[in-house]
Amino acid sequence: MTSAMVTQALGRARLFDLSQPLFSGCPGWYGYPPAVVEATWTIKEQGFNAEHLDLMTHTGTHLDVPYHFVADGRRIEQVGVEEFQGQAVVLDLRFVQPNQAIGPDELQPFAGRIEAGDIVVLCTGWGEKRSLDDVFMRQWPYISADGAQWLIDRQVRAVAVDTLSIGGSTPETGRPAHVALLGAGFWALEDIRVPEEVIAAGRCHLFSFPLLIPGAGGAQVRVVAAVE
Ligand SMILES: [Zn+2]
Repeated sequence: MTSAMVTQALGRARLFDLSQPLFSGCPGWYGYPPAVVEATWTIKEQGFNAEHLDLMTHTGTHLDVPYHFVADGRRIEQVGVEEFQGQAVVLDLRFVQPNQAIGPDELQPFAGRIEAGDIVVLCTGWGEKRSLDDVFMRQWPYISADGAQWLIDRQVRAVAVDTLSIGGSTPETGRPAHVALLGAGFWALEDIRVPEEVIAAGRCHLFSFPLLIPGAGGAQVRVVAAVE
């Protein structure tokens, strides 16, 4: 896509922010140290404002690349920026319940809308529940092993979820989706929120460029959806 094509495409589009705010103590994986965002340099003391960050690469709205679960998988700098954007299909899965596995039964009704090469956005509604509450922190719905295989079989290339992880909150439920999807070369966006307009559109052009942290298996992103 040339820059003229991008300008033309975005000229008609409405842009929506799918990112969650990153702040001290914000929700994140329960085993990780909490994020710290501190205003350590201030106009009053040093003459300008600057903030200190102390956080895991997988806290807040972020992207997993294969190296996160695959020892010889691609790391952030080994994935071209062109791969971090493209056509996305948005699936409204807001009927799912806490701790529910998302498998072929839940996904099959959407099969006709999914095209090869898509980024698949699984909207569970958890993005609206984001808090330190147990339902958000531990009981999110997750992609099962056979759900991951179903997505791989559709020849899509990435997934995005509005929960803390594509897998569940336990090792038994958490590993399978990561091993299968990242093992198949997918990247995965976690801890997004999906605005109602984007759900209603059902399709968008998604932009999710991670910070360039060489060697890392994940990094924070600002996620933007362009809807025609
Ligand atoms: Zn992650």
